[in-house]
Amino acid sequence: MTFANWARNQSGTPAEVRTPASVEDVVRAVRDAAASGRRVRMVGTGHSFTGVALTDGIMLRPGALTGIRSWGDDRVTVLAGTPLRVLNELLDERGLALANMGDITEQTVAGAIQTGTHGTGRDSGGLADQVAELELVLADGSVTTAGPGEDLFDAARVGLGALGVLTAVTLRVEPAFLLHNRRRKLPLSEMLASLDELTSANEHLDFFWLPHTDACLVKTNNRSPGPARPPGALRHWLDNVFLENTVFGAACALGGRFPDLIPRINAVSAAALGDSESVDTSYKVFTARRDVRFLEMEYAVPRERLGQALRETRDLIDRMDWKITFPVEVRVTPPSDAWLSTAYGRPSAYLACHIYRPTPNPAYFEGVEEIMTRLDGRPHWGKLHTRDASYLNKVYPRFADFTALRDRLDPGRLFANEYLDLVLG
Ligand SMILES: Cc1cc2nc3c(=O)[nH]c(=O)nc-3n(C[C@H](O)[C@H](O)[C@H](O)COP(=O)(O)OP(=O)(O)OC[C@H]3O[C@@H](n4cnc5c(N)ncnc54)[C@H](O)[C@@H]3O)c2cc1C
Repeated sequence: MTFANWARNQSGTPAEVRTPASVEDVVRAVRDAAASGRRVRMVGTGHSFTGVALTDGIMLRPGALTGIRSWGDDRVTVLAGTPLRVLNELLDERGLALANMGDITEQTVAGAIQTGTHGTGRDSGGLADQVAELELVLADGSVTTAGPGEDLFDAARVGLGALGVLTAVTLRVEPAFLLHNRRRKLPLSEMLASLDELTSANEHLDFFWLPHTDACLVKTNNRSPGPARPPGALRHWLDNVFLENTVFGAACALGGRFPDLIPRINAVSAAALGDSESVDTSYKVFTARRDVRFLEMEYAVPRERLGQALRETRDLIDRMDWKITFPVEVRVTPPSDAWLSTAYGRPSAYLACHIYRPTPNPAYFEGVEEIMTRLDGRPHWGKLHTRDASYLNKVYPRFADFTALRDRLDPGRLFANEYLDLVLG
């Protein structure tokens, strides 16, 4: 069986595929791999653009390790392979919610936290920052738990699958809440001038700059006492399905065939951007559908360097003859204490570049990566980049502690793959 990721830019053929349904099944797979000299990894839903999930050994699929194990007052323990979309619905049925999340809900809980999946938040961080406890199977086949105050907890929350196979994750949850979502168009120059004000005035700020134009779509989400005013079914379909996916997909396909039209296509899209408002259940506001296949690179830079990062990216695109259909997305998070979180120890801003899958443009990513690395940027572990262990060691203060822990827990590199050889050494 060949495994391919969502973007279809990574694939591999594992020696064996298993679908464990219990912790014991995972222990057996880890012991069998060790005994037969093979490697082993669990995958999520393949939404990483890097080869982080690939293995040539035993691939564990998440489909039977799903569901809630137990409920607490302010926490829930879920089996590691539970998709976020299922978790959101189960929480909602109980009047509970996660404080923050990323753009989509297709990923599994373990897959999402292992690469540091994040959304945007002034006060609330990525998914790994909402973890209260982990249960994992180590390379020697033992089952262990890790909680706050333990090195294993700070290392394994964003662990790249390098320290063990997660079997259960306990997440902190809170009473369900509504978000007031506002979308409006702002010129990039105004956006750049009001970055500090907008990030401090909003609980969740997310904006998209459309290359070859001066237009930004700015989305702000703030908690609301209600009442709920969800977008009507037609409005929702029009914005989230038809315009953001169907029409956008057609524009990308047209731009792919006739690249010289892209600046004009983007100008038409910019002119069509309108203001809108709604109040809805948090997870419905945080997340969206993504039907158009793309490739993505995303870097986290220190928050105070966002203006420079964005200006230099705009100037680079203006200078070069590239034609870029996809918007550049900008988000922020507070500092994280997970050692390999892209936000470790610093308030962070994220700048994400996307390219239409059928027309990759490596020079675009290389050019932006040069800017981001000059600004001490940290690449998202699940999105395309070319950094290796020597660079990453410089931008992650606890990198050496992570690799030392890995040396102790997995000296035989049972959980390794090519990507980990590159980024961890
Ligand atoms: C359309 C799209 C939108 C996206 N939006 C965002 C976003 O808004 N924010 C963001 O930060 N990222 C985003 N991403 C990136 C994505 O969230 C991450 O790459 C995430 O890791 C994918 O989760 P997955 O379940 O598909 O895991 P996979 O990609 O399959 O695996 C990721 C890693 O987790 C490991 N893993 C999985 N399960 C286990 C386990 N049980 N134990 C140990 N290791 C395990 C795998 O081995 C691998 O190392 C997006 C990606 C796509 C394609």
